[in-house]
Amino acid sequence: MKIPLVDLKRQYLNLKTEIDHAITEVINETAFISGKYAKLFEKEFSETYGVKHCISTGNGTDSLYIIMKSLGIQEGDEVITVSNSWISSSETISQTGATPVFVDIETDTFSINCSLIEKEINARTKALLIVHLHGQMCDMNKINALAKKYNLFVIEDCAQSHFSEYNNIYAGLHGIAGSFSFYPGKNLGAYGDAGCIITNNDDLAVKCRKFANHGGLVKHQHDIEGINSRMDGIQANILRVKLNYIKQWTIQRINVAGEYSRLLSDLKSVVKTPVIRKNTKHSFHVYQIECEKRDELSEYLNNKGIQTTRHYPTPLPFLPCYKYLKYEENNLPNVVNASRKILSLPIFPEMTTEEINFVVENIYNFYEKDWNN
Ligand SMILES: *Cc1c(COP(=O)(O)O)cnc(C)c1O
Repeated sequence: MKIPLVDLKRQYLNLKTEIDHAITEVINETAFISGKYAKLFEKEFSETYGVKHCISTGNGTDSLYIIMKSLGIQEGDEVITVSNSWISSSETISQTGATPVFVDIETDTFSINCSLIEKEINARTKALLIVHLHGQMCDMNKINALAKKYNLFVIEDCAQSHFSEYNNIYAGLHGIAGSFSFYPGKNLGAYGDAGCIITNNDDLAVKCRKFANHGGLVKHQHDIEGINSRMDGIQANILRVKLNYIKQWTIQRINVAGEYSRLLSDLKSVVKTPVIRKNTKHSFHVYQIECEKRDELSEYLNNKGIQTTRHYPTPLPFLPCYKYLKYEENNLPNVVNASRKILSLPIFPEMTTEEINFVVENIYNFYEKDWNN
């Protein structure tokens, strides 16, 4: 048996007729950039999400950058973010001219450790860019309390948390704006790059829409200089098909995760399964374990045809590009420790019981424990 980390082909084959039709439709109407289908996607996504504005973009990295530029974040400012994320979360801060300030994580949920945020806040701090990594929601009560106390913007990076919930409210609706990626492997994935921004703030919505479209809403009228970051019609129409399935897929992901955690519970001494924050819905973009002999286990599984990865092997502050910020491992112990033990197992909505069992059985075999007892 071969089990990939994600299986996009299987999903395509299940939806082939609908997807193929969606692609042909766009080509027949030559609605390639923004246009009819991007507008329809924006409308349908904002309705499904219960948000006033959805601005489609070229990708999730651009979405973060567009939000920050539209909020006026600039050189001399600081934006606080988490040490464990994909580089988009921090490189977009730098691209505005501001400085990313990295905070350590919680040991159980792997989210930003809110108790460490306050000491990083100073007169230059403008925003908290938080990441609901793996689909796990951050502690929004604490984050919003801090933001209110110090008058900071909260920007949510929801690239891994489509339809995750905190107190029954979706990810992306807790701060001033939410940024989404529709990279193919994300829970809601296009067949190329795509992203969007959601917000209930009318003024910010207009600013983002302008900035993403060469600084104007009307052709040849450039109120400001902007960038070119718009969604392709083909991607938009593919996403419209998938939007009808995302809630079902999220349930399936939660079921796969639940099954993993149940079956792995007898390995507690060597494998820690994900802890889900109270009053939240985790959308399980990633199913991550924290385990002993991580590298050996990963190699063992790989030899059995089971693909695994790490989210992420090197914490952001210790990437070569951030050497100049001079972070020390001693000051970010949790993220450093986690990076040595974490392992992401295959997860996708279509994963079968047989496949889950195969992964679990091999983990038991690696630790030489009998999983039928
Ligand atoms: C994927 C991802 C992004 C970037 O999205 P792209 O669409 O690939 O630009 C940003 N942040 C996080 C946490 C991600 O996982």
